[in-house]
Amino acid sequence: MSFDYDLFVIGGGSGGVRAGRLAASEAGAKVALAEEYRMGGTCVIRGCVPKKLMVFASAYSGAAQDAKAFGWTDSTIGAFDWSKFRGKMDAELDRLEAIYRANLAKAGVEIYNARAEMVDAHTVKLSSGETFTAKHILIAVGGRPFTPEFEGSELTITSNDVFKLDSLPKSILIVGGGFIACEFACILNGLGVKVTQFYRGAQILRGFDDEARGHVADLVRERGVNLHLGTDVMQIDKVDDGLFVKCTTGHDHCYDAVMYATGRMPNTDDLGLENTGVKLGRKGQIIVDDYSQTAVPSIYAVGDVTDRINLTPVAIREGAAFVDTVFHGKPHKPDHDLVASAVFTQPELGTVGMTEEAARDQEPIEVYSATFRAMQTGFAEREDRVMMKLIVSQATRVVLGCHIVADNAGEMIQLAAIAIKMGATKEDFDRTVAVHPTMTEELVTMKVPTRTA
Ligand code: NDP
Repeated sequence: MSFDYDLFVIGGGSGGVRAGRLAASEAGAKVALAEEYRMGGTCVIRGCVPKKLMVFASAYSGAAQDAKAFGWTDSTIGAFDWSKFRGKMDAELDRLEAIYRANLAKAGVEIYNARAEMVDAHTVKLSSGETFTAKHILIAVGGRPFTPEFEGSELTITSNDVFKLDSLPKSILIVGGGFIACEFACILNGLGVKVTQFYRGAQILRGFDDEARGHVADLVRERGVNLHLGTDVMQIDKVDDGLFVKCTTGHDHCYDAVMYATGRMPNTDDLGLENTGVKLGRKGQIIVDDYSQTAVPSIYAVGDVTDRINLTPVAIREGAAFVDTVFHGKPHKPDHDLVASAVFTQPELGTVGMTEEAARDQEPIEVYSATFRAMQTGFAEREDRVMMKLIVSQATRVVLGCHIVADNAGEMIQLAAIAIKMGATKEDFDRTVAVHPTMTEELVTMKVPTRTA
């Protein structure tokens, strides 16, 4: 049977673009890609990239305050001009989107600016009315924010909307305790917005190392975020002064805006998957095997739509592994083990490997943990304390996990992750000479375990 394409990719985000490009340029496949919105997906258009630009922007307010302690007599930086910044940020996203499109075109991928739906195991139909067949179909449609429904939920915004605001609110309530809620609480706080954050559980950043979570929560509060734990919204009403929020703990208050960051859902609605036999999980995610293949042999899925590890670099690896498996005849399982990540709070949390809690359930461990004032912030008379932590197997001496709370912890954990991925032992860390004076030298100078478990 002949097909219009060897590969039809649905979704122009990190995973889909990488797979489409590699299949066309390296495997010589005839590839098409359909994207209904903007090329680049969540990461480039409404996620990692604009978020990180906002992180940079928001850090200047603290840096300006510190400058005085370092002898600068005039460290005022004036007010933050959101519209000027937004214009520049939008231009940067346009530039990146154009690069994504150019690279796809250069690789020979045919781009359709349309929504695609599955008709059967080898056929897609586009919103433009065209129908195409393909030997293989890759679904890489990502996810979208989830907001629970309650009285007034239609008055809330999500992180998608923050990037498009005409002006910054004077005050905001952020609901949620995950990556997005914590990052935006810090960003907006740094930009001068009065931020309140509600999290329904006992501590933010569930799933991360407990000690690190507590440390981040303390420092985020110290830097000005009004964090309420064990608190949830009951109802929101529009009033003259803004949005009046009734909550479970009586901290009822009026805010200019309420942002929900209560998780993300896979984008599998109205995709025609019921025509194919592709199986979905409880959250609506596409169920795939270790090679990203769905229950239908011709259909694969990568990235957030599969709800495995929802991070851009993971989606990219999944896309590349799919091309190896299907187009190079080299079956390749994407490696989901020891994936490092960073939460871009202020300070940041960088993490790789097991938490203390998970590791001690698995085997006897030693914990090396240090908190200290870093030279720069100490001199600036800030109360900030850095946290560095290693979890070590008592039996094998292998470092099972590393957790860092510090400015630029995202950069630090990337490097620690290489050693840990290579199976470094505590003794390997110990025989590595420190780089002085740095914060991370602590990782190679912690000699005595803080505790064993
Ligand atoms: P997360 O799953 O990280 O966090 C969701 C938060 O919302 C949790 O605190 C959860 O609470 C809370 N929540 C869920 N449902 C409700 C509800 N009905 N009412 C109140 N609170 C609720 O999701 P995010 O949206 O923050 O991020 C999505 C994913 O995107 C992340 O998991 C990550 O994979 C990725 N991401 C990565 C980033 C990075 O690498 N720096 C940055 C941003 C996103 P509870 O803990 O009690 O369940």
